[in-house]
Amino acid sequence: MPELPEVETVKRGIALLATGKKITNIFVGRKDLRWPIPKYIGKDLKGAICRPPKRRGKYILIPLSNKKILLLHLGMSGSFRITSNRPNFQKHDHFAMEFEENDWAVFCDPRRFGYIDLLNEEHAKSHRFLKELGVEPLSSDFTPDYLAAQTAGKNCSIKAILLDQTKIAGIGNIYASEALFKARISPKRQAKTIKGKRAERLVNSIKSILLRAIEAGGTSLRNHVQPGGEIGYFVQSLQVYSRSGEPCLKCGAVVKQIKQSGRTTFHCGLCQR
Ligand SMILES: [Zn+2]
Repeated sequence: MPELPEVETVKRGIALLATGKKITNIFVGRKDLRWPIPKYIGKDLKGAICRPPKRRGKYILIPLSNKKILLLHLGMSGSFRITSNRPNFQKHDHFAMEFEENDWAVFCDPRRFGYIDLLNEEHAKSHRFLKELGVEPLSSDFTPDYLAAQTAGKNCSIKAILLDQTKIAGIGNIYASEALFKARISPKRQAKTIKGKRAERLVNSIKSILLRAIEAGGTSLRNHVQPGGEIGYFVQSLQVYSRSGEPCLKCGAVVKQIKQSGRTTFHCGLCQR
C-alpha cells in the first residue's frame, strides 16, 4: 500500500510530466473507484493547465489554471504509469489524462480503493478528508513536543498513534514498523510513555526513514519516467517490515510478526522495548 514516500514519488513523476502543460484529453474507464468519479470531470479538466502538484498526507493535489484542484489518492493498490502515446488501456486502468505532446498519465487500480475528485480551490482546506489530516511528518511542525502531546494520556499502542492520519499524515504500516525499529521502541508500547528522549528518538527516526525512502523513490523515478514506466513503487532496503522469521539485522534474534487492530506489525522483541 502506497505511503508518504510512494505518493511523494508519484507526485514528482506527475510534476515532471504535467507542470505547465495543458490537459488535452481524459479517459474514464469506470464511474466509481472507492467513491464515484465526478460526472463532468472531463469538462473541467480538458483545456486546463496544470500547476505544480502538491502532496498532503497520502493525497496528491494538482492545482489547475481554472481554479479547480484535481485530488488523487492511490488507495491500496493504485499506481500511475506514463506513456508517450495513447495507451492500450488494460482491465484495471480506470482513469487517464493526456497532456500536450501526447504524454499520458494512466491510473491503474486493481482493488479500486483509489479516489479521484475535483474541488474548487477555495474548498480545498475544508474538504472532508483534507481538513482532518494531522501534521506533515517532514515539516518543522512535527517535533518531539508535538508527538508527546498526541500520546499524552493515551492507553493505546504507539503504533496506533503513528497510523492515525489525524495526528500524523502519510505514515502507514511499513514506515511505522521501520521507524519504531530504528527508534528501538516496541510497537506495543503504551502511547502515553512516549515522551522526552523517546519522543525525540521516534520523531528523528520517522523523518530519516521517510527521507531515505523518498530518496530511493527519486532514484527509481530517473529510471522509470519513460514510456510504460510505472511510478511510485520502488525497491527499498527495509530493516524489519516483512522479515518475520528472519534474523534481526541489529542483534540476530528472530523478527516477529504480530497483529495490532488487524494490521500486521514486524518487530524485534530484543531491540525494541
Ligand atoms: Zn534485534
